[in-house]
Amino acid sequence: MTNTTDKHINPDKIIPTMHPVFAQRTSYRAASPHQHLWEILDHVFDPELPGLTIWDLGVLQDIQVTQSQDDFGQLKPRQLKLELITVVITLTYSGCPAVDAMTQDIIQALNNAGFEQVKVKVSLAPAWNTDMISPAGKQQLLALNIAPPNEDDHPDCPVCGSSNTEVISQFGSTSCKSMHRCQHCAEVFDYFKSL
Ligand SMILES: [Zn+2]
Repeated sequence: MTNTTDKHINPDKIIPTMHPVFAQRTSYRAASPHQHLWEILDHVFDPELPGLTIWDLGVLQDIQVTQSQDDFGQLKPRQLKLELITVVITLTYSGCPAVDAMTQDIIQALNNAGFEQVKVKVSLAPAWNTDMISPAGKQQLLALNIAPPNEDDHPDCPVCGSSNTEVISQFGSTSCKSMHRCQHCAEVFDYFKSL
């Protein structure tokens, strides 16, 4: 039996089963012929959310590879180095300042792996929403003491799991978060607003 003072969070309550929107992203990725590139980008993180990859956050949408051509329009023989990689990302919130840092990190990660021609394209369709965040991403938000988005926009405390929380401010450390206080353990925490 659990008593009310247990620091126990029921993961099924806070981390719902895989959302269909994320499931769709997962099958799209699984069908891509460029698995090695997706895996390289699993090491690129949101600069403002430590440990949360751009994949888990739902920012990374697509990876396209085209062959570079020489001046005569012929495909060059040494394929690997001459692939032009286009990474398609979307933005979490308009005017998100993290996009420049993420773009540089994406290019750097692929350059480091030997891919020299890399382009990052920002696409606003499909528009990002919090359903795109992976279950692992929601776990990571929790680990950062940030309540992950939920449907009724009433977050449970990321520290003790209590649903007895109150909103303090509609805007937390950034506009995508609101600030809350747990009335059970007194923790003040950010909530990643659902969108
Ligand atoms: Zn609490």
